[in-house]
Amino acid sequence: MRREHHARLPRMCFAPARKPSACLPSALAAVWIAGMLVVLAAVPAGAGSDAFRKETKRTVRAHEKARTHVDRLRAKNAGATEVRSAERRRKAIRAGLWDALWSVARDAGDPVAVDPSGRAGRCPAARARARSRAPERRDAVWTAPIHRYRLSAGYAARGSRWAHRHTGQDFAVPTGTPVYAVGPGTVRATTCGDGFGNQVIVRHPDGYFTQYAHLSRIDVRKGGRVAAGQRLGLAGSTGNTTGPHLHFEVRITPYMGSAVSPLPWLRRKSVQVGG
Ligand SMILES: [Zn+2]
Repeated sequence: MRREHHARLPRMCFAPARKPSACLPSALAAVWIAGMLVVLAAVPAGAGSDAFRKETKRTVRAHEKARTHVDRLRAKNAGATEVRSAERRRKAIRAGLWDALWSVARDAGDPVAVDPSGRAGRCPAARARARSRAPERRDAVWTAPIHRYRLSAGYAARGSRWAHRHTGQDFAVPTGTPVYAVGPGTVRATTCGDGFGNQVIVRHPDGYFTQYAHLSRIDVRKGGRVAAGQRLGLAGSTGNTTGPHLHFEVRITPYMGSAVSPLPWLRRKSVQVGG
């Protein structure tokens, strides 16, 4: 199997190199990434496949390592060429993951892949306003997705409600509680009708996506720009829920299977979310 590719190579290249010889030449790194993506593509697809899920998790971890490496290089004012090459590596990992998850999402009928505008679904609660044109400010102050909440199920929690581990952070709130965009971005999808109920997915300038699910009402439209703290809709209990709450997720791609731990991600944006 090609799996042997994974174990050793990335650590050497994604860790900040103390001396040039400690890092593999970038050509070899490219070979590693290509190998990983071939493996991802070759694993029997299907959201239910354990092998596929394992492989995507591994790829998400590799992406996060690559992103940390880019951040560190920037923090120490590394040369532009070095930063560009590290950023290219990060993007290559994400591109492979994106392709693999997109085809799985499309085959599974995930509305984010099939009809991101939500038009084909039944969205009786959606009252989208005209597209907003708020400027996408990179220096914006980020915020929590909801105010006055009780934290319920956390990221990676296990339970009978999830086929596998929980992929987001839940905020228990009454139906009708306003839900806000955590940062500036563009609405990638507004969908309804699947297990996530009425949901909004926002793409942020750093390339990450945030998902806001189980809403009772959606106030934005696909393609609209949103500012940090702008209301996206109201919390509710549409889709598979046991009560009103916001399911908040941070993803590397728009699709399921690429989630990262949301609270540390928010902390990096100076947003503290506590119980
Ligand atoms: Zn949840």
